[in-house]
Amino acid sequence: MGFIDSHMHTIFLHYSALEELAKNDYEAVVTLAYLPVPFSSPESLKDHFNHLVYEKTRLRRVGITALVGIGLHPRCIPKRLEIEKFLGVIEEFITVADVIGEIGLHVMNDLEVNVLRSQLKIAREHDKPAIIHTPRGKNKIKAIKLTLKIIKDVGISPELIVIDHVSTNPEILNILSREKVYIGFTIQVGKASVDDVIYAIKTHPQFSERILLNSDAGNEPSDYLSVAKTFEKLCEVIGRNVAYHCAIYNARIFFRI
Ligand SMILES: [Zn+2]
Repeated sequence: MGFIDSHMHTIFLHYSALEELAKNDYEAVVTLAYLPVPFSSPESLKDHFNHLVYEKTRLRRVGITALVGIGLHPRCIPKRLEIEKFLGVIEEFITVADVIGEIGLHVMNDLEVNVLRSQLKIAREHDKPAIIHTPRGKNKIKAIKLTLKIIKDVGISPELIVIDHVSTNPEILNILSREKVYIGFTIQVGKASVDDVIYAIKTHPQFSERILLNSDAGNEPSDYLSVAKTFEKLCEVIGRNVAYHCAIYNARIFFRI
């Protein structure tokens, strides 16, 4: 048994944090593309992707498999530069990438929509799983609806998609109950709690086959051990089988590991 954190930004984590993950039975983490600033050139995006690929070596030193996600996070999209060149960098790195992500919508303008659509086309063409960010607050429902529409337009299989940072808003749970996408719960203050995951599973038992837990540990306050801690609480409250699915098994199926 080994935990899998389906969404992290390990470039922000100190080596001692990686050692702690290993001590707590982590088998794999998915380390995704993201910087808290827009990229100023395609070359800087390349450097970021090379840094992410290097994370495989750093994680291997502590005995953890790193799956690397490449992509343009909506908050990293440059405003005025030719976007085609940035998409070209993603194509260039596609063979070393395990995942396309973190991608998605944040403010939902035309540029973000076009960049998301283009990246989902790349994921579809190369049969790669994609991890999709959703914004906080009341924009979340709108972003999820628009994202699902783009997924259908592009024609990518929903089984290659994680809609991430899901909340327990009843409308969101209702929408997702009609879809075949995977559901990412980020256990972090301001995103979701263990009680939210329990509520979602109790109200929609079928979600236990599709939930992926993650910490989104990176540059903001987060608990990089939150998947392991959530597993323990889920074992106590709803049982080991469901906990195992959410913290390990579903991720193995989704990421094919
Ligand atoms: Zn993230």
